[in-house]
Amino acid sequence: MSLPKPIRDYGKAHGAMYKKIYSLIKKYDRICVFRHIKPDFDAYGSQMGLVTFLKDNFPNKEIHYVGDNHVSFAGRVYPVMESLPESWFETPFLALVCDVGEHDRIADPRYAKAAAIAKIDHHPCRAEITDIKVVDLDSASASEMVYDLCANWRGKKISYQAAWYFYSGIVGDTGNFKYRSTSIHTFACAQSLMEKGIIISDITNCMFEKKIDDLKVTAYVLSHFQVSPHGVAYYYLPETVQSELNITSERGKDNVNLFANIEGIHAWCSFSESTKDNCWWVSLRSRKEDISKVAFKWRGGGHANASGARILSLDEMEPLINDLDALFADK
Ligand code: AMP
Repeated sequence: MSLPKPIRDYGKAHGAMYKKIYSLIKKYDRICVFRHIKPDFDAYGSQMGLVTFLKDNFPNKEIHYVGDNHVSFAGRVYPVMESLPESWFETPFLALVCDVGEHDRIADPRYAKAAAIAKIDHHPCRAEITDIKVVDLDSASASEMVYDLCANWRGKKISYQAAWYFYSGIVGDTGNFKYRSTSIHTFACAQSLMEKGIIISDITNCMFEKKIDDLKVTAYVLSHFQVSPHGVAYYYLPETVQSELNITSERGKDNVNLFANIEGIHAWCSFSESTKDNCWWVSLRSRKEDISKVAFKWRGGGHANASGARILSLDEMEPLINDLDALFADK
């Protein structure tokens, strides 16, 4: 299948690796698809798009998907994950890993029991999990990479449902085609996915549907955020506040992008307490500056303009904000 003139023609650039992955898929009758913990739209979209593509094209293979469930997406936007027994992983299988590079961020550690592992990802990674991989740090989403892998496989079909999932992942990681990482390739994939019959407004309505109570969370954030001297906006949600607002820590970052496109704000972040994980989860975003180095310093990682980190107590919030603030001292 030919996509309309993308800047980088993945099919050509990654052709040899695509063929290796196709051979592995053909070879194994038992396949499990993995993605990162605390799934966002791109993690789910790339995983479930690939699962659907495999089920559609290889009805006789056993195709599975595992991982943690998102409190509001699971069962509404994407299926609830399967619970596979330990015994399933004892017979040889292929692990396909989407949207994650680091071993400790893969949502089910049993991927490591696989007879073969292939990875498609757009995150920087410290320690590699496999040689069979397509990694593009500049790609806006893993979903468009996985879609490209599937779309370039001659003779295979991409169903409406697979297209729906891939599109949702692209929308998620590009902020609906707004972020700097959005490329001609992203739009080429979106066009090609629309040709499968998806109705894009139905997808975004489903993804971003809010409840009246969600507005109370937004109201809280708008009345409690702070701004550092050089333009870092931030808010924090202790568990006491989360329970008043009827949310869990994974939803603490839902409002972080309220601070995008505000004059004088260069970066923005949220801090959400999780006593279960013994930390505060941090989501960092920026307009232009690479904030991933700050995320790495604070036990995290991610992309130049969207990263995640962890602090061990609220005492670490100020030093982290100071690190971010220092990036903008001369702006
Ligand atoms: P979040 O703020 O959790 O939505 O994360 C923003 C982006 O950073 C997503 O692409 C995550 O996959 C990525 N990310 C978050 N935490 C980490 C980490 N510890 N290591 C690598 N990437 C991360």
